[in-house]
Amino acid sequence: MTETELKTLKELIIKTMGQLEESDTYLQEATQPIEPSVALGRLTRMEAIGEKSVNEAMHIKVKQRLERLKNALDRIEDGSYGVCVRCRKEMPFGRLEAVPESLVCVPCMEKKS
Ligand SMILES: [Zn+2]
Repeated sequence: MTETELKTLKELIIKTMGQLEESDTYLQEATQPIEPSVALGRLTRMEAIGEKSVNEAMHIKVKQRLERLKNALDRIEDGSYGVCVRCRKEMPFGRLEAVPESLVCVPCMEKKS
């Protein structure tokens, strides 16, 4: 991987983390406990609860991805970024551009075990 590619990926990770942090803030608010007396407008309480659980599931995913992206940034800093943890080969730029937090290359992922 070239210096330019690495820089591009680092910027991509930072940008993605910024977007996820915004979602995180929004979801944090959207997953607050629902007051029994809260005025829900058109929503019934059941709908509000349903929506809350969807948001909670999304919130968990956002937090997990943020964590993985943070780890990817750490790997860029220590120089281990972009190398498949299974076969130790350098991953193609396209793979990292699509999923910058990748730990394994596509062939290894497809092998499953
Ligand atoms: Zn691999």
